[in-house]
Amino acid sequence: MTPILRSDLTVLAIPAFKDNYLWLIHDGVNAAVVDPGDAGPVLAALAANNLALTAILLTHHHADHIGGVQQLLEHASVPVFGPRNDGISTVTHPLAEGDHIRLRGLELALRVLDVPGHTLGHIAYVRETPGAHWVFCGDTMFAGGCGRVFEGTPAQMAASLGKLAALPGDTKVFCAHEYTVANLRFAQAVEPGNAELSKRVEVEAEKRARNEPTVPSTIALEKATNPFLRYGEPEIVGSLVREGKLAAGAAPIEAFAALREWKNTF
Ligand code: ZN
Ligand code: FE
Repeated sequence: MTPILRSDLTVLAIPAFKDNYLWLIHDGVNAAVVDPGDAGPVLAALAANNLALTAILLTHHHADHIGGVQQLLEHASVPVFGPRNDGISTVTHPLAEGDHIRLRGLELALRVLDVPGHTLGHIAYVRETPGAHWVFCGDTMFAGGCGRVFEGTPAQMAASLGKLAALPGDTKVFCAHEYTVANLRFAQAVEPGNAELSKRVEVEAEKRARNEPTVPSTIALEKATNPFLRYGEPEIVGSLVREGKLAAGAAPIEAFAALREWKNTF
């Protein structure tokens, strides 16, 4: 018997502020929004696509990710999923690693990962539906880079990125900012011999020239080109040592910390 499939889910990128993406997941009728830093563009997208908001998902407490929650709740009384440990007062369904959620009105099941580092309570949402692997990772992994380590330690951030990197290669990475071109400029400085990376630099620059998002990327592409997943690569370690940012023979986590530090001032 052929199963009757509900309409596929679509993910819309809603640009906000200077370089944020708010993600709107919908089935043509109902919608969930991830990290609504601003309500205005979300309400506009809901109206333009004739969608009803049924859930809000949050990854971490920064204002550019939660700033629109209050106003959206005035528009629609919906559950607010978010990290248990990140101090967000509007969260009605607190989550941590291992939790599984199903969204009201949408054929969408998500698993929660703890990904501390950018903030201490930061979580990510993983969709494991065969043929539609997704991760909403906020400011933890970016296309070609990673978030700043504001609250956690470099070791925590590296472990969190490792969890994301362990997802299937075809997992689409829905991160929260369009930082890709600048990230890849740094990536090329530290790993100029990476041919996949050189190819990616051209592809992403062309997308930006056409004013298209470079996000989502995939876990496979990130593993091939993102220096923050590749800090054990001899060429990257060599660049760090040559620039005087790392002692020869240092532990891999020292290389990660030095890389993050270098990117902060690049
Ligand atoms: Zn943030
Ligand atoms: Fe952010």
